[in-house]
Amino acid sequence: MRIKTVQAWWVRIPIEASRQHRSDFGRLTTFDAAILRIETNDGIVGWGEGKNAAGSAGTYGTLVHMLNHEVGRQLIGRDPADISTIWEMLYNGTRHETAAASGHAMPELARRGLSVAAISAVDIALWDILGKSLGVPVWKLLGGRKADRLPAYASGGWETAEKIGDQLRSYIASGGFKSVKMRVGAMDAGPHVSAARVRAARKALGPSVDLMVDAHGTYTVADAKRFIQLVQDFDLAWFEEPVNADDKYGMAEVRAAGNVPIAAGESEATRFAFRDLAVLRAVDIFQPDPAFCGGITEAMRIGAIASAFNLRFAPHLWAGAPCFFSGLQICAASPASFVVEYSLGANPMVHDLVEDTVAVKDGMIEIPDRPGLGFTINERVLENHAQRL
Ligand SMILES: [Mg+2]
Repeated sequence: MRIKTVQAWWVRIPIEASRQHRSDFGRLTTFDAAILRIETNDGIVGWGEGKNAAGSAGTYGTLVHMLNHEVGRQLIGRDPADISTIWEMLYNGTRHETAAASGHAMPELARRGLSVAAISAVDIALWDILGKSLGVPVWKLLGGRKADRLPAYASGGWETAEKIGDQLRSYIASGGFKSVKMRVGAMDAGPHVSAARVRAARKALGPSVDLMVDAHGTYTVADAKRFIQLVQDFDLAWFEEPVNADDKYGMAEVRAAGNVPIAAGESEATRFAFRDLAVLRAVDIFQPDPAFCGGITEAMRIGAIASAFNLRFAPHLWAGAPCFFSGLQICAASPASFVVEYSLGANPMVHDLVEDTVAVKDGMIEIPDRPGLGFTINERVLENHAQRL
């Protein structure tokens, strides 16, 4: 089996006006992603995804160009089953043979960001190919699944204090979720405004639903501490990205200041960055994004670090189908996973881009049994929304 073609597209799907929401990222009118297709000489097709924006509206011209014109050509003729070897080749660049022989990394200067987003897309597609070529789901290749369904949490929550209770209760009505996440931070006029929204949410949900908050990294350390103090009676299950991801020491200070578990990691890439978060005792829950952190291979390594440090693991899955289904495979196989992120914002990059129905019932999501990542791309939707670059 050899890699024959590598093709990436910037896919941009409009979000209908009635389903758009506004946050600190602004009003999102489209869902954008870099979608990758790798085909082998015997006709097996694997799908991947790379990401350079946490919100769904990123711009993907550069990443797609990189995949098509720089990364792709290094893959032609390679055995797609050499997944870790290809990962290290792309990460270590011209020194990859020296690094492989020496047994340690010698990464290229640009060892984060777009470089690892491109590696992520390739890695995800290669796992899809390996599963399809063997006729087994990816979780089987990662060591098996711990359950055939896993708990999912409803991710959304942008409304004002007056409306947030109804919004979160509508999520529970739609999928029976036992846990929900709302947004706080810079979208509000100050920590007291966010805290009032959290108070209203807890009042509407009652004590038995897990409630999480996500600040998208927009507080200062001082304001994150103020916020924790203001919400200490509302039993938060986690406080996500309290401060800028480039302030790991600040994150550790926020964690030490209160009794709310800290979650972070969607802005981090590679096992090395997560090792630092663990050693600094900055977070309780790792949230790597498979399309940004380095793919399925790297997310599993990050899950192993979480487990070794007695932390937990809840991948960031606000994403398109290749990334989301990767998350299902990873959560099924990782000992540190416990809940799957399920976006309640409009997500055509999952629901329209695949032929399959993706849904949560009784708060649980199915781990697919189908070979590879477990979805079938709707190629007409992809073609209709691929940007002409
Ligand atoms: Mg987040």
